[in-house]
Amino acid sequence: MDEKTRKARHERLWRADHRHLWHPFTQMSDWLREEPLIVDAAEGSYLVDTLGNRYLDGVSSLWCNVHGHRVPEIDQAIAAQLGRVAHSTLLGLASTASIECAEELARVVPPGLTRVFFSDAGATAVEIALKMAFQHHQLRGDVERTEFVALRGGYHGDTIGAVSLGGIDLFHRIFEPLLFGVHHAPQPYCYRCPLAKAWPECGMACADEVEKIFAARPGKIAALVLEPVMQGADGMIAQPPGYVRRMRELCDRHGALLVCDEVATGFGRTGTLFAVEQEGVLPDILTVAKGITGGYLPLAATVTTERIFESFLGAYEEKRTFFHGHTYAGNPLACAAATASIRLLRERRVVEGLPAKIAALSRALEPAARMAHVGEVRQRGLMVGIELVADRETRAEYAYGLRAGHQVILEARRLGAILRPLGNVVVLLPPLALGAAELEALAGIALASIEKVTARL
Ligand code: PMP
Repeated sequence: MDEKTRKARHERLWRADHRHLWHPFTQMSDWLREEPLIVDAAEGSYLVDTLGNRYLDGVSSLWCNVHGHRVPEIDQAIAAQLGRVAHSTLLGLASTASIECAEELARVVPPGLTRVFFSDAGATAVEIALKMAFQHHQLRGDVERTEFVALRGGYHGDTIGAVSLGGIDLFHRIFEPLLFGVHHAPQPYCYRCPLAKAWPECGMACADEVEKIFAARPGKIAALVLEPVMQGADGMIAQPPGYVRRMRELCDRHGALLVCDEVATGFGRTGTLFAVEQEGVLPDILTVAKGITGGYLPLAATVTTERIFESFLGAYEEKRTFFHGHTYAGNPLACAAATASIRLLRERRVVEGLPAKIAALSRALEPAARMAHVGEVRQRGLMVGIELVADRETRAEYAYGLRAGHQVILEARRLGAILRPLGNVVVLLPPLALGAAELEALAGIALASIEKVTARL
């Protein structure tokens, strides 16, 4: 394509985007004033825009890409599936691709999690977990267990059940009249401890607060739902080690289920295939999505133990059935991609290769510790949040309207990397396939952008 045709095509698409699209989590009046970056193609871990510019995919196309883009093995698996059937239903029928995918998934999740309920987004996986936990207790005659506990700062998706669990005021507060009541426990956020204590002298006082909620509602709590190890969407809030284990013990003591939402942390992001492995924890219900297909197609799964599955068994007329299902649940194309991606994780020994990459990224981020406007760098595996502050001493935050994070990512684009901030937190969440040199380049771009933008804020 010559330069002129390329530019004309870009401009036509730009106009059409501005005329018809409503972008998620985007202030559209800002959007309509700016020229959009239009992704047109990809090569490995680089995205290519309509003007032919290449950018490192620094947030894995919203935390889901694993092996890079256009991976021959995954492309071929989808093409082969297309040659058989693109979609058939799981309601009353089985399908080859969903069976194979469930089998692969069951092999890699923590032992004890055996039953896979498919859906198509992280939010649906969480809705399913909520309803499953609730109905499980009902079916066992524990009918008073109808309440849920979640963490402040938690994010589980944008459907109403998931928003009820959510604890990010900016996203969730306006919907409060629509939500069901959830007990929200203080956020394990050591840099800005809501209890004004310091780790480890605090003895994990935030975990004691969760215990108090349980103790105040004996026999009432159906489940505790949390993002283990790292709360993603609130700004990569890393939990103190042992936190998830404490939560498991607490659930066991009080007869509640533990639901671990690994939609973001799953499939190697935190350095282990699942974050709960680091805490030696087996959840009763695990939710996964994003990286399950290698970041190719929408697929999610709510994975549970035999114990929970068995609560739902009974004679037809007892109506113990789990009356829930989405049209595209277990879509064969998505399942074929997931099976191929999980196999690649195993064949390429991706998780085994992570420690060297994680160390390279940490080293490359070391200069941040001396930067005037970096409050904290939080890293778990290849999930990183760099919290910008107006003042390091007082930890004062940049005003919301300054859009500090946004300005940093615009600068990063000029330097050749796509990032997406969470407020004042600059997020790095690269595909696991990135090599050490690319990780260093990504960290370098992020730090240079932070330096430049914060110098003028
Ligand atoms: N749970 C967690 C922990 C997430 O990070 C997300 C998405 N960022 C979701 C659930 C929702 O996933 P989806 O956007 O696929 O609905």
